[in-house]
Amino acid sequence: MKSAVFFGKHDLRVVDSPVPHVAADEVLIHVMACGVCGTDVHIFQGDEGAAKTTPPTILGHEFSGVVTRVGEQVTEFKVGDRVCVDPNDMCGHCYYCRGGQGHFCQNMVGIGTTVNGGFAQYVAVRAKQVYRLAGGTTFAQGAMSEPVACCLHGIDLCRIVPSSRVLVIGGGMIGLIMLQLAKLAGAHQVALLEPVEQKRAMAQQLGADLCIDPLHENVPERLRQEGFFPISTVIECAGLPGTMAQAVELASNKATVMLFGLTKPDDTFPLKPFTVFQKELTITASFINPYTMQRGWTSSTPGKSTSHPWCATQYRWTTLPTCYPTRLCGRGASIWWTRTYSRRRPHRTSKISRMKGVSQLRRLPGDFFVRRAHAAVKTAYTDTAPVA
Ligand SMILES: [Zn+2]
Ligand SMILES: [Zn+2]
Repeated sequence: MKSAVFFGKHDLRVVDSPVPHVAADEVLIHVMACGVCGTDVHIFQGDEGAAKTTPPTILGHEFSGVVTRVGEQVTEFKVGDRVCVDPNDMCGHCYYCRGGQGHFCQNMVGIGTTVNGGFAQYVAVRAKQVYRLAGGTTFAQGAMSEPVACCLHGIDLCRIVPSSRVLVIGGGMIGLIMLQLAKLAGAHQVALLEPVEQKRAMAQQLGADLCIDPLHENVPERLRQEGFFPISTVIECAGLPGTMAQAVELASNKATVMLFGLTKPDDTFPLKPFTVFQKELTITASFINPYTMQRGWTSSTPGKSTSHPWCATQYRWTTLPTCYPTRLCGRGASIWWTRTYSRRRPHRTSKISRMKGVSQLRRLPGDFFVRRAHAAVKTAYTDTAPVA
């Protein structure tokens, strides 16, 4: 099978590898869609994500597909089932698992981080990690259940009530999910700080009450003008030290500040304890998706709660490595490309190679992105129809 293997910093290659063996309690999934998470990009850059990755490893922890084989002990799935996967496999018997805090499991297996994941044609996972997709759910939507589940854990910690005013910083994929979940959690108003115009437009479509360009507008002034006060929750989704500090500054008295964005491991930001004291702030964070996968899956079902305009960027696995530098070159997730399977005029890698930072990274041959699209924030890759 083809798989995109992480061999080390800035080294991700598509190679042939054996189809995984299926243990008695596992199912074999033909992967149809797999999201490219910010964590994957951090790992690609040589940083640690939620767990330490030891190369060589097939990355990809946001995926869906079709069951093509079942282990002899598996009774709840059959060949042909369309499924998505919770990549965080907890042991169930360590101190944290027994205490209901399985996301801190001392024996955690991370599918796509500590063990091989979804950037491959096939992946074997334990059946207990698998969720069947509802009819009408696309594979891309199924793959997005995991990031939605992570956001749900964060939202649960934000203490949002019907009168809340929520400020989301960063309108990438995660910020846009948070915006929607904050509304679903009952927030009275939600505002977004986002410099990219297309993302602000998308946020507006998704129900944002106020969108501000933090690079060209005076944010406190604009919030005041619009009567967006008090701000009871600030959700930082950019993962930058500057916006973390901004989150603390903009929070009103008694507010919860959720530092959701993933920073580099050694990043720091200046925090004035006096501000925390004076406003009696609660500063918190959120780690992966403990016990929220079922709800994340439900939220990803068509016609239900969160919407998915974000998961339209598609790469074939053969061009997957090029997607990493794409997400690394300056404008990050605001760069959004679509890879189609039609024979429309392909741009060759020349277009991407003009972008900052790409030239020194490994590129694979192959035609590339056909259409630049508008407001996208999330990448996914898809495979062809499964071979049973
Ligand atoms: Zn992720
Ligand atoms: Zn455990």
